[in-house]
Amino acid sequence: MPARRTKIIATIGPAQDPEGALERLLDSGVDVLRVNLSHASPSAQAARVKRARAHRPDIAILADLAGPKLRLGDLPEDTPIREGDTVVLGAGGVPVGDPSLFERVRPGDPIFIADGTLDLISTEVRSDRVVCRVRVGGTLRSRKGINLPLDASSLPAVTDKDRADLAELEVLSPDFVAVSYVRHERDLAEVRRLTSLPLVAKIEKQQALERLEAIVDAADVIMVARGDLGVEIPIERVPATQKRIIRVANRAGRPVITATQMLVSMVTNSLPTRAEVTDVANAVLDGTDLVMLSEETAVGHDPVGVVQMMGRLLAETEPLLQPHEGPPRSLEGNALAYAAARLADDLDAAAIVVPTRTGISAQRLAAFRPHRPILAYSRVPETTRRLHFVWGVTSIDLHVPAGLDSLNATLEAARRDLPPGSRAVLLDIAADNAVGVPSLVNAIRF
Ligand code: PGA
Ligand code: MN
Repeated sequence: MPARRTKIIATIGPAQDPEGALERLLDSGVDVLRVNLSHASPSAQAARVKRARAHRPDIAILADLAGPKLRLGDLPEDTPIREGDTVVLGAGGVPVGDPSLFERVRPGDPIFIADGTLDLISTEVRSDRVVCRVRVGGTLRSRKGINLPLDASSLPAVTDKDRADLAELEVLSPDFVAVSYVRHERDLAEVRRLTSLPLVAKIEKQQALERLEAIVDAADVIMVARGDLGVEIPIERVPATQKRIIRVANRAGRPVITATQMLVSMVTNSLPTRAEVTDVANAVLDGTDLVMLSEETAVGHDPVGVVQMMGRLLAETEPLLQPHEGPPRSLEGNALAYAAARLADDLDAAAIVVPTRTGISAQRLAAFRPHRPILAYSRVPETTRRLHFVWGVTSIDLHVPAGLDSLNATLEAARRDLPPGSRAVLLDIAADNAVGVPSLVNAIRF
């Protein structure tokens, strides 16, 4: 039985290139590998993913699209700028990666560079350049990211690079696709036309917060993308915003990821800070389903140590979780899941056993945060992999022998997997939630 319920996503990168490093990361307890497409194409990362699947065939893969992120172009050399300086971005000045910058900025708009560490204000906008005054200086470096919190342009959410990446995504055979800089639920619909994979909506723009409920509804999984969010909105609003996003996702029964800088000091240090460990614990108590590691595992000096630290921290915190409000129990499936969760806790069942084809039944159960383990059995391998995104679920591939149905095959498998003599709660929710259809089961058994 797993000691830990919150799932861990680890971003892969150059730190996994040394012989055996990827395999050790997979053995350290990660549930999902994230392939960041900001700097590379799917085919450039295919070899890593192939190695990962060879070592752990059940590992889930998250392909994270770059989205319309603006960047500086290639600078001939690092360029220091100081408060009060005038800087030209574009023609005759600092090269920018994407000319759409000139359509997105109006005079007086703030322009942040390098995760918000440099703060400029535009004073003049032309069709090929923006003149800016520096408010907080620093060093301009090639390819650094640009954030425009006031960008109100209606530029497409899916860039040409995203389109090309989506077209060759099958080389990674990912389980989920993350959509960056979502502003409107329409952005997700646009991506759905290009892929049938389930989508993670990254919440990192002010505009997304204004349509949060509709975006959560339209997405399969939500990410609190605190990196860009902390530049796009005043940083002091990040904690309250994280709590709001998690609450909305929990109520809608959507898994939610808390991302960025969770244990970032461990990129170079062997121990996290007190503030970092407390932040991770609070994300768990807020109701996050997953936590994400970025540089910590992609370029850090000890990815395995980071994942192990994260695992201990999660296991130590989870006993403090209180029963969850969860999604509305006026829906029959939710009411059944809630009842099964409470029943298992009250009777101290060994586990809650769920046969699930799509994964929805297991997801519903997890939304109520039962203390007892959830064992989800599915005959669909995609479902067992996708359930790596759901809090507290141990997903198991179900083999259905001839002459048995899924329900009875699940019962047999659970008898094999649970200690002899233990008692479990079985939750079987009819697939389409249709009450009164006699061939379907809506049942809790003990
Ligand atoms: P990124 O997304 O790392 O792809 O930018 C996460 C975030 O912004 O926090
Ligand atoms: Mn981001």
